[in-house]
Amino acid sequence: MARYTGALCRLCRREGEKLFLKGSRCYTDKCAVEKRKYAPGQHGQNKGKLSDYGIQLREKQKVRRIYGVMENQFRIYFKKASRMKGVTGEALLQLLERRLDNVVYRMGFSTNRREARQLVKHGHFLVNGRVVDIPSYLLKVGDVVEVRESSRQLMVITDSLSMAEHRGFPEWIEIDIHAMKGKFVRIPSREEIQLPVHEQLIVELYSK
Ligand code: SF4
Repeated sequence: MARYTGALCRLCRREGEKLFLKGSRCYTDKCAVEKRKYAPGQHGQNKGKLSDYGIQLREKQKVRRIYGVMENQFRIYFKKASRMKGVTGEALLQLLERRLDNVVYRMGFSTNRREARQLVKHGHFLVNGRVVDIPSYLLKVGDVVEVRESSRQLMVITDSLSMAEHRGFPEWIEIDIHAMKGKFVRIPSREEIQLPVHEQLIVELYSK
């Protein structure tokens, strides 16, 4: 399946806000959104008024870009969320949070989800003691993710972990930094996901 390989900062500029796709650079004044607060491209500075559909579409694109999920897969998550108990928008975000690449990122083993995806694909992580190299693998409560013994010296992982240690970890995961492992303790609540997203707009978009 084709995956976006262009400049990541363009995606943030298109959405008009920081999506934190690059890791440490996103926290510096080199961030492209800080420097150029308009959409990329020739007509980027011509701000037209968005229709309701346009607003819903942008919100969906924003969430897809944050988690690095393609359209078809995103629709599958939505269908699954709509069959779950509770609020569909919240269930959608909770499903996306359970992806292995996201949890690797949340545990601080990578500085962003794209990097996490690469690391998972290269087989650097175990889930409950077994290698899992599928970024979209959905974790269950109680699952333990750990860096493989042979990958524990990788600078990309050790550097990310020390940066994450400064920033802190979400409360829904338990981290043992020295053992380079973490436990998925519970499904995060909507408040704990802390994304600047109006997921109800996505529900409205797909419910048309
Ligand atoms: Fe987005 Fe990070 Fe680039 Fe800023 S530096 S535009 S937050 S990817």
